[in-house]
Amino acid sequence: MEKAVTAPTLAIAERFRSIKPSATVEMSERVRGARAAGREIIGMSSGDPNLPTDPRIIEAAERSMRTGATHYGSSSGERVLRDAIVRREQQRSGVTYSADDIIVTPGGKFALLAALMGTIGTGDEVLIPQPGWVSYGPCVRLCGGTAVPVDMLDHIDIRKLESAVTRATRAIIVNSPVNPTGRVLSSDEMEELVALARDRGLWIVFDQVYADMVYDKPMVYPQALSNGFERTLVVDSFSKSFGMTGWRLGYLALPPGIAKSAVKFIQHSIYCGPTFIQMAGVKALDLGDELLPKFHALFRGRIDVACAALESMEGLTCTKPDAGFFLFPRVDGDDVAIARRWLDELNVAVMPGSAFGSSGAGHLRMSLSCSNEELTTALERVAGAGIGE
Ligand code: PMP
Repeated sequence: MEKAVTAPTLAIAERFRSIKPSATVEMSERVRGARAAGREIIGMSSGDPNLPTDPRIIEAAERSMRTGATHYGSSSGERVLRDAIVRREQQRSGVTYSADDIIVTPGGKFALLAALMGTIGTGDEVLIPQPGWVSYGPCVRLCGGTAVPVDMLDHIDIRKLESAVTRATRAIIVNSPVNPTGRVLSSDEMEELVALARDRGLWIVFDQVYADMVYDKPMVYPQALSNGFERTLVVDSFSKSFGMTGWRLGYLALPPGIAKSAVKFIQHSIYCGPTFIQMAGVKALDLGDELLPKFHALFRGRIDVACAALESMEGLTCTKPDAGFFLFPRVDGDDVAIARRWLDELNVAVMPGSAFGSSGAGHLRMSLSCSNEELTTALERVAGAGIGE
């Protein structure tokens, strides 16, 4: 008699099984699906502003492609772009990087992953102030580390962070301006973070992707503080500042001594970012002085309009953000239920605050990334329906 052969089970690695899908990307997919099925949804859930990429940036990419930049390029990134990034960093934080310490990546998300890949090993712990961006924890886990969320809502609670440090703690992820709250960390908060990192021997992975969108507050950069530069790995991106989310262009700015190792990760994973996209990045930086003030004015106007409309809503308290295009109003009710109801009944997609960590519960993240007309309609709908459950 023939023996029944059981095929050995094929297993998916724990690192894939254990990570949760991105709540924001999943919501965007749901909105896309609903739109394809004919529903007219107003999208206020994603961090993808409705800014068309400037035609001159598109032309720069096209020119570069047509003149032969269709081959592998430098793994660190094109020198002309890295030089422009050095100037950009110098202008904003006052820190002068060497172009050798800049690594161009496909988007800020990959810069974050590369920073963690270079600093976090199996079992290492990474502190993540919450509420925080949805990808921090999963990126830490992809590197074999343990994400340690520390709840603090709207300020840096240094005591809480300090008491979460163990012998396994290697890094802290700092994001300012903060997604989802729109807060810019004060200089006292940043000084305390740098002091903690120095005292406990931690890296600071600093995500500054909204730094070009700060309104009245001063922007504070940990890499510019004393004891900050040598321990801060800066993550940045062209996505938000220049309306270039789909181009996937970001970078790391590193203290000396890391880039040489980090670039091996690029060599063995993506090899390099597309050169023609990087040429578009050079053009974007050239146009920064013209484009950034325009985008500022646009989002500031939307913030004023939205906060004024939401102010009158019962059970909802809206504080103006210091930066960016996210509102994070507090709601007297279950944020998940309210977001679901607004989507199902009003065709308005927002994120429940609890998607950004448990301390985000009781808030909604409303992204002012739709058109002005859509924003007006969405505000009329939600103000009319209220948060009532
Ligand atoms: N950091 C934060 C806080 C973000 O909100 C985002 C995008 N949502 C990113 C990093 C990454 O942006 P990208 O990969 O498009 O550059």
